Amino acid sequence: MMQVYNSLSRTKEELRTIEPGHVNMYTCGPTVYNFAHIGNFRAYTFEDVLRRALIFNGLRVTQVMNLTDVDDKTIRGSLAAGVPLKAFTQPYIQAFFEDLKTLNIQPAEHYPAATDHIPEMIALIEKLFERGLAYKSEDGSVYFSVGKLPGYGKLAHLDRDNLRAGARVAQDEYEKESYGDFALWKGWDASDGDVGWDSPWGRGRPGWHLECSAMSMRYLGETFDLHTGGIDNLFPHHENEIAQAEGATGKPFVMYWMHCAHLRVNGEKMSKSLGNFFTLRDLVEKGWRGREIRTVLINGHYRQALNFTFDALDAARAALARVDECVDALEERAAGAAPAGNVPAWATGAHDAFAAAVNDDLNMPEAFAALFSLVRGCNSALRDGALGAADAAALLALFDRFDSVLGVIRFGRPVRSVAIPADIAALVAARAAARAAKDWAGSDRLRDELAAKGWEIRDSKEGQKLKKL
Ligand code: AMP
Ligand code: ZN
Repeated sequence: MMQVYNSLSRTKEELRTIEPGHVNMYTCGPTVYNFAHIGNFRAYTFEDVLRRALIFNGLRVTQVMNLTDVDDKTIRGSLAAGVPLKAFTQPYIQAFFEDLKTLNIQPAEHYPAATDHIPEMIALIEKLFERGLAYKSEDGSVYFSVGKLPGYGKLAHLDRDNLRAGARVAQDEYEKESYGDFALWKGWDASDGDVGWDSPWGRGRPGWHLECSAMSMRYLGETFDLHTGGIDNLFPHHENEIAQAEGATGKPFVMYWMHCAHLRVNGEKMSKSLGNFFTLRDLVEKGWRGREIRTVLINGHYRQALNFTFDALDAARAALARVDECVDALEERAAGAAPAGNVPAWATGAHDAFAAAVNDDLNMPEAFAALFSLVRGCNSALRDGALGAADAAALLALFDRFDSVLGVIRFGRPVRSVAIPADIAALVAARAAARAAKDWAGSDRLRDELAAKGWEIRDSKEGQKLKKL
């Protein structure tokens, strides 16, 4: 079973689901005021690998990813563009879904938008009032009273004795040194333009943190298994989500919290505000493929900062070309045969290493190492003529099993222009066997036979190379 690092306990723990065989997971989604940058996609690809790893382990996954379509940034953007909020966010929502496809990110089961769940948010604030944890301030906003919740700060490990609680904070984002009562509902003011909803506390809009507590519980229940995001979400966003949910229900909110480290550029977090970002679209325009970008984003340990470079993209391109070549050769050898039983014994080791790496808190560098040990094993078996068609088919199925987690092998693989007919593939396999048996006369006879049928065969370090004449 999987071990995951839980930010709440700061230890690796065995993942045990509340409902056997089923994981309920919430992943903080995009704020749709702009195109997402590849730093954001480090978080979404990490979550995608996590989702795929859970499925790899035979679990059913219900994943919710919210769309933050009302907050400080979206309102500012819509006012600057002079268009209504929905019209402003809509193209970015659409672009986000296109980008998910570019990176082969599996769709979540639900994508709730904040503006479609205002009644749930209002109901949650009402519960917090009932429990004495919310109060209305003179500016028409409603705040959460952090001093009244004993567990406040448990995720961020706030040292409440030594940190002085700051003043009230109305902004969605702030540092932990200035933690204080945060806004659940922001009373309308002129900077909100025409954005606002009526509530028992007057016209206004929800705070960002409230959106996620309300929508996660709406789709996954009051207590669920897993909640993820980038490390910058841990405080205050996730801390405040816990406060709101646990404050309202009195029950534990989430069992496992997982956070990915940042994608960096020259040692700094890639972010919109620093202006050091590439959107996915920037890279696609420069000629990089989704599978290459995905490989760079997932081929690092998710809890370690990852430095983005174009050299890394080059390396990913070269690595995928090696995998493609091996899979092409296996397909040639398999010639459409069905996998016969088990993979050869040497390949089982690669599979076990892969599964162990994935299940050890998503150790993707080790998982990729297992993939390349499989590639090397296949190449040498192909070279030695040691693979029958059914063995090759079984190995292809193993690549697919790896790919169910990695999502970079089949996805966007260059299509070979010529399909190899079964009779030709059979001759190629026979010739490989002849060469392995050092039957050079037989090997030459088969080469002539292939040539007569219009196919040229060359011998290389990686084995036989076939070309249509
Ligand atoms: P936002 O749209 O700013 O709410 O961010 C969406 C997701 O991207 C969140 O889970 C953030 O933690 C994550 N994120 C933002 N910048 C980075 C970065 N440079 N590296 C990794 N994750 C990031
Ligand atoms: Zn969130």
